[in-house]
Amino acid sequence: MSRDQRAEDNGALLAAQEMALARKEPLAVLFCLLPSFKGAPGGAFAFMLDGLIETARDLARRKIPLIVLRGDPVLEIPRWIGARGASALFCDFDPLREKRLWQREIAVRVSVPFFEVDGHNVVPCRRASFKQEYAAYTFRPKIRALLPRFLEDMPSLKDHPFPWSREDEGSRSLDRLVEARKNLPSPLPASGPPGSAAGRRRLDAFLAAGLTDYDGKRNDPNEEAQSGLSPYLHFGQISARRAALEVTRSAASDEAKEAFLEELVVRRELADNFCFYNEAYDRFEGFPDWARRTLDAHRSDERPLLYGPADLEEARTDDPLWNAAQRQMVLTGKMQGWLRMYWAKKIFEWSPSPEEALRRALLLNDRYELDGRDPNGYAGVAWSIGGVHDRAWPERPLFGKVRYMNLAGARRKFDVDAFCRSVPPLG
Ligand SMILES: Cc1cc2nc3c(=O)[nH]c(=O)nc-3n(C[C@H](O)[C@H](O)[C@H](O)COP(=O)(O)OP(=O)(O)OC[C@H]3O[C@@H](n4cnc5c(N)ncnc54)[C@H](O)[C@@H]3O)c2cc1C
Repeated sequence: MSRDQRAEDNGALLAAQEMALARKEPLAVLFCLLPSFKGAPGGAFAFMLDGLIETARDLARRKIPLIVLRGDPVLEIPRWIGARGASALFCDFDPLREKRLWQREIAVRVSVPFFEVDGHNVVPCRRASFKQEYAAYTFRPKIRALLPRFLEDMPSLKDHPFPWSREDEGSRSLDRLVEARKNLPSPLPASGPPGSAAGRRRLDAFLAAGLTDYDGKRNDPNEEAQSGLSPYLHFGQISARRAALEVTRSAASDEAKEAFLEELVVRRELADNFCFYNEAYDRFEGFPDWARRTLDAHRSDERPLLYGPADLEEARTDDPLWNAAQRQMVLTGKMQGWLRMYWAKKIFEWSPSPEEALRRALLLNDRYELDGRDPNGYAGVAWSIGGVHDRAWPERPLFGKVRYMNLAGARRKFDVDAFCRSVPPLG
C-alpha cells in the first residue's frame, strides 16, 4: 500500500484478497514509512499518519495486519517478502518517477508474482489511453466511453479467514505509527480531520450542500465552493471511484454533476496520464513543442519585475492577490483552485527563466500544499507555465502564446480586496 491508503474501495487490496482466498492463504498489507518525501511538510505527514492509523484499525477488524516497514522500500519490501515466504505481491498505481523506480527495482528483487492494480483512477490509467493525451478534449471521449464499465460499486473487503501467523506483527506496527505521529505538528487547518471516515463525511456534506453551486461559484475564492476533497484523494483515504459514484447518484442537476465529474475524473485522470506518459513532467522539456518554441522566442524579453525565492516564499511581492494566495497556502496548506493558476503564472512572470519558474512553483507547491507531490500539481504547474493541455493564445511579451492572467482580470471575476483582507499575515 502506498498511494491508496484505505481499507475499503481499494482495488489492489481486493485483488490481493481474492487471490489469498482462492489459495487459502493469509493476507497482510505492507506500508513502507519514509522519514520524508519530496519536502512534504510535517502537517502533511501527520495527516497521512492519522489516516494510516485509522486504516490499520479498519484492517485489523478484517483480520488483516497492516505491517509498517521503515527505510528504503526497494530493500525492505523484498527482504520482508523473502523472510515471510510470501507467495505474491500486489501494489497500487502511481505515475510519479520515484514510485515507478521503486516498483521496477522491487520487481527485479522479488521472485514472486508482482501485480500492479490501478485503484486510484476511476478508469485505470493504462486502460484510459496508451499515450500522452494532448488535452482534455482528446481525453474526455475516451474516459466517457469507458466510464459505464468502471463506475460500479466494489465488493466490501471480507473478514480474512486465514490468520496471519505472527499475531503481534500488526499491533507492533500500529505502535510504530502512533510513535512516529507523536512528535509531528497537527495536520494543517485546510484539511479538516484526516482519515477515510472524515473524507467520507466531507464528501457527503459536499453532496448535500455544495455540489449544486459548484459550477457557478467554485472559481470565486471568497465562496469556498470547492469540495475540499483533494487531501483525501491525494493520500487515497477515499476513492475517486466512490466519490464519482456518489455524485452520479446524488439529487443534483445533470449540469452540476457534469461540472464536478469533469474535474474529479477527466482533469484528475488527465494529470495521471500526463505524468505517466511524459517522463519530463516536471521539466521544460515536458512542455508541448508550440509552448517551448514560443517561450524560447521570448526568453530575452525584458522582465520588469524579478523576485527571488525568499520574496516569493514570504509573500513579499507588489501584487496583493498573489501575496494573499501564497499566505493562504502557507497558513492553511491549501490554496483555492482558481488562484493556483494565477499564482503559478505570476511566478513565471517574476522569474529569470521558465525553467527556474517551474522549479520554484513546484518546490513551493510540494512544500506547502497538503495535496502537493501529486500528478495534479505537476500537471497544474505545467499547464500554467508551459501550456500543457492548453492551446496557443494571442502572442504577447514574455508569455509568447502561453495564456496570460493578470490582476485586472481577477478583479473582474471576484472581489479581490475582500479575499486579500480575509487572509491573515504570515508569522
Ligand atoms: C498551479 C496548480 C497547482 C496545483 N497543485 C495541485 C496539487 O498539488 N494537488 C492537487 O490535488 N491538485 C492541484 N491542482 C489542481 C486543483 O487546483 C486542485 O485539485 C483543487 O483546487 C483541490 O481542491 P478541491 O479538492 O476542493 O477541488 P474541487 O474543485 O472540489 O475538485 C474535486 C477534485 O477534482 C480534482 N481536480 C480539481 N481541479 C483539478 C485540476 N485543475 N486538475 C486536476 N484535478 C483537478 C481534484 O482531485 C479535486 O480534489 C493544481 C492546479 C494548479 C493550476
